Amino acid sequence: MARWASREVNYYLSSQVSGCRDRLIVFSANNVKGSIAPSVMIPEHRLAVLLDKVQHGQIDECLYHNTTIPPSLYYDHTCEEEGFPLQSMVELRDHSDEVWYIDFSHDGSMLASASSDNSIIIYDTRRWKIMMKLSENNAMSDVPGICYVAWSPDDRYLLSCSKGKDLTVYDIKVRSLGRR
Ligand SMILES: [Zn+2]
Repeated sequence: MARWASREVNYYLSSQVSGCRDRLIVFSANNVKGSIAPSVMIPEHRLAVLLDKVQHGQIDECLYHNTTIPPSLYYDHTCEEEGFPLQSMVELRDHSDEVWYIDFSHDGSMLASASSDNSIIIYDTRRWKIMMKLSENNAMSDVPGICYVAWSPDDRYLLSCSKGKDLTVYDIKVRSLGRR
């Protein structure tokens, strides 16, 4: 099918629906989206969502990622091995058993560590002091240990998952928890 220049389209519209052309010109996608099946409509902001995924994919695939600057979409992102820190700055020895998972808060100010000793420790990353120690009482579970933690997007809540499959959400501001 041949592509039409906008002048040709306008001419076609005016010739097909003479007298209604002015109303057709202000016709936009917003006017018709309620009449089109959702399965054929592109969701709002879809391009931005896809580009965001590409950026996160580049970070995930960067073996020596060491920058907070978002990758450019103009070229493939990679961090050089030489820029990756190899010297230990601090040793954290506050758990009594193995650490199974760590997760930094999104703003980088906190680090949560989950351990087989059934506790979670939240560190202040500016001074590397313990902000909070959360001990799980898994009386219902035969399998001790916390194997996963994840911060909410606003860093207010911390989700943990125990090896015994208990899911706990901590409200960091008020230190309360909900369990499932
Ligand atoms: Zn990188």
